[in-house]
Amino acid sequence: MKFPEIRKEVLARTVELYKAGLFTVTSGNLSMLDEESGLIVITPSSYPYMLMKEEDLVVITKDGEKIEGDLRPSSEWKLHAAIYKARPEIRGVVHTHSPYATSLAVKREPLPLILAEMQYAFGGSVPVAPFARPGSPEVGSGAVEALGEKKTAALMANHGVVTIGETLSKAVDRAYYVEDAAKVYTYVLSTGGTPTYFE
Ligand code: 13P
Ligand code: ZN
Repeated sequence: MKFPEIRKEVLARTVELYKAGLFTVTSGNLSMLDEESGLIVITPSSYPYMLMKEEDLVVITKDGEKIEGDLRPSSEWKLHAAIYKARPEIRGVVHTHSPYATSLAVKREPLPLILAEMQYAFGGSVPVAPFARPGSPEVGSGAVEALGEKKTAALMANHGVVTIGETLSKAVDRAYYVEDAAKVYTYVLSTGGTPTYFE
């Protein structure tokens, strides 16, 4: 079996995000790139996280050819692959439907720069990628465009969130940070406050 270390990390972070409530039922997926081969280790599609084993993860090329695995790769593999193609420094991609951040995505409202940590974590505000049918190539091209050359998080209109990192660990941290920042933003608005911005 290829990439035992990567599989271990991918599975551990998948279960963690499920237990943390950022992945729900089978919504959400993550992947890690093997730098040397350029292959992607990605979660299988519609498979319960708590039943997932290392051998259930799927190895694909950036063009979606399956190299190893019995299950179907995540239906969002095109999103993951498009990001690895566009941003060669990126080694980890996380896609969630975490509720506070997704609420902003439903409003098609970017998350403005309201917290100092956002500058460091995401490279500023979090943009919204245009709506695209889940699993379509446009999900990938829209996210790539929204992320540009430097951002590390984007909302996906009427769908969810994508975060990326030079390591999978950083991409996972950012998935938590986006949800927390969206929660803070929502709380400020819902308590009648006026958020202050800086850029
Ligand atoms: P998969 O189960 O195919 O990864 O899909 C989940 C998802 O988030 C679709 O957008
Ligand atoms: Zn999704």
